[in-house]
Amino acid sequence: MKSKAAVIVGPRKVEIREITIPEPGPGQVLIRQKACAICTLEQRIYTNVVSFGYPGVWGHEVSGVVEAIGPGVVAPLSVGDHVARGGSSACGQCYYCAMGFDVACVREAERLRNQSKMDDNPGSLKGIFGMSEYAVVDSHNLVKVSPAVPFEEACLVEPLACVTQSANKLDVELGQTVVIIGAGTMGLLNALVAKLRGAFVIVSEPDPRRRAKALELGVHAAIDPSQGDAAEQVKKLNDGRGADAVIVAIGNEKANADALKMLGPQGKMMLFASAHPGVPIPLDPNVVHRSGIWITGSTSKNFKDFFQASLLISRGILNVRPLIEKVLPLDRVGEALELASSGGTYRIVVTM
Ligand SMILES: [Zn+2]
Ligand SMILES: [Zn+2]
Repeated sequence: MKSKAAVIVGPRKVEIREITIPEPGPGQVLIRQKACAICTLEQRIYTNVVSFGYPGVWGHEVSGVVEAIGPGVVAPLSVGDHVARGGSSACGQCYYCAMGFDVACVREAERLRNQSKMDDNPGSLKGIFGMSEYAVVDSHNLVKVSPAVPFEEACLVEPLACVTQSANKLDVELGQTVVIIGAGTMGLLNALVAKLRGAFVIVSEPDPRRRAKALELGVHAAIDPSQGDAAEQVKKLNDGRGADAVIVAIGNEKANADALKMLGPQGKMMLFASAHPGVPIPLDPNVVHRSGIWITGSTSKNFKDFFQASLLISRGILNVRPLIEKVLPLDRVGEALELASSGGTYRIVVTM
């Protein structure tokens, strides 16, 4: 079948083309996609910061409707269901899957390695096919979303799932103090989830508009890390103590240094954002030894995180609407990608 899709053909070059979508095979589902949010991955491909090669159809934060179901699908899905894409393609059988870490699935890692080899074929379209009217996906990559949720909000189940993974891992207790460094889309999603978990939430962000936005969304305090010692500012707000958890939602050296200084005894540091380039963190092992701090990271999501993110949005427990900056139709995808890549915007969503 034919589908209109946004094909990124080169650095800062995108075209609307008609592409061919196959029938759904065993275990697969055909989706009529309705909305796709632009994340950092798509910005980096579009601006050639990461070279996955061209041409490709990208976008991984997607919502839509089940159009057809292939043979052998066991997932509880019916034609017409509203769904979000972006779940794990973990095998459910290997050591890490058995231990509950779908994100570390050995077979999924192997599949991705083989896929990138295949992608070296010249002329073939690469990508995840989010910015396309139709796509065929593995059924376990989908989760149902309430039809009451607008598609441009439902597509944020995927980024929210990355946040629920981080929250599940940090396991913040009622009344604990959580600092989020960086109040971009992902930083604020982390802040909203930390609030749901009953934490005292502080955002550290140099941009005054972003601090104002964080306060509007209900964080308890917002500090400016460019005005004096950020760790001291946290302590002042926290009865002289460091934080119980610091989520680093921006990948840079200063943020990492601030986070380490902000942590109180037994505190947990969550490296949520990737850094380009990845600069090593100077760390005195004796500090870790004595203070008992934890340093961890998270990327992607387990199926549980994905399912929980869908519940949060479907049931109106968490409102993602304020994090959508602009919604543009697929025909204006060039404008959408430029806007998203300009920095400083919240999510830009393309609708199909
Ligand atoms: Zn994303
Ligand atoms: Zn596995």
